[in-house]
Amino acid sequence: MADKLKFAFYWAASCGGCEIAVLDINEKILDVVELADILFWPVAIDVKYKDVEAMEDEHIDVCFFNGAVRTSEQEHIAKLLRKKSKFLVSFGACAVNGGIPGLANVTDREEIFLESYTDNLSTDNPGGKVPCTTFEVPEGELTLPDIYDTVNTLHQVVDVDYFLPGCPPPPELIINAVEVIASGDLPPKGAVLAPLKSVCDECKYEKSEKRIGAVKRIYEIEKLEDKCLLEQGIICMGPATRGGCDARCLDANMPCTGCGGPTPNSLDQGAKMISALGSILGIEGEVDMDDEEVQAILDQVRDMIGTFYKYTLPDSLLKRKVM
Ligand code: SF4
Ligand code: SF4
Ligand code: SF4
Repeated sequence: MADKLKFAFYWAASCGGCEIAVLDINEKILDVVELADILFWPVAIDVKYKDVEAMEDEHIDVCFFNGAVRTSEQEHIAKLLRKKSKFLVSFGACAVNGGIPGLANVTDREEIFLESYTDNLSTDNPGGKVPCTTFEVPEGELTLPDIYDTVNTLHQVVDVDYFLPGCPPPPELIINAVEVIASGDLPPKGAVLAPLKSVCDECKYEKSEKRIGAVKRIYEIEKLEDKCLLEQGIICMGPATRGGCDARCLDANMPCTGCGGPTPNSLDQGAKMISALGSILGIEGEVDMDDEEVQAILDQVRDMIGTFYKYTLPDSLLKRKVM
């Protein structure tokens, strides 16, 4: 028992799916329990922050941290767990790239509060109250964490040792990460614990030289052909996305939305996808298109940010909208 590793799991701005993914490794969870004691896991065990604060520095061997950082509490716990852990693993798209919560970077706290607490049809809030960080009640002062204007990735807040991408990370990658850590044969700091391939490399379809003259959503296609979805005009982020998931969405004939994050050596997933798309645009029999023709096709992409930066806006070159 003394030789067991000590693990911690934490969730910040997340949906909880990454916690479920840990359980999705099925009976392999028994190997994890055999290998390690779990000292801190708010979703599953009742351990208080003060218990973590009381630990010696680097007492935890490995902390798996999922979720982006968007509140003062999440930042505090990220810094605390960094100090108390030998290795910090950024777990899942939200921690690694900002993920879906990172799309909040198209706006700011004030606009989010207006939309959530006052300017909507289903909320009755005559005083226009919005959350505040301190509130006086007869019993004393209540406090809430501060919500930031900008959502950050974990590595933008603390030093991270390894990255495990995916929304959530596929079970095979989670098992591989645990096995690698248990073996002690660790990859270089900063490594992404996923293959170097793109989703296209894992996809059952092969891409040809076909050009597309229109962009469509999947429901606009009456009958899908048994071939690359991008060549049927459906935006599939496969060329710009790191593999490791065995292109599972394509197995269900759904396009890749990019949850694996950028391909290796790519600075910006959205820019890479826009470049890939630009290289295959072409109206039937016509390779050279003027700007208006290109714009007409691009206008068919609804929600550019939500399409090309669905999981990576905080970690992209854009990072956020200037308000
Ligand atoms: S990466 Fe996906 S599954 Fe994990 S917390 Fe974020 S949204 Fe949820
Ligand atoms: S673009 Fe999409 S459908 Fe086409 S090969 Fe790549 S992953 Fe498969
Ligand atoms: S195909 Fe794309 S969206 Fe689907 S799991 Fe793989 S990386 Fe994520």
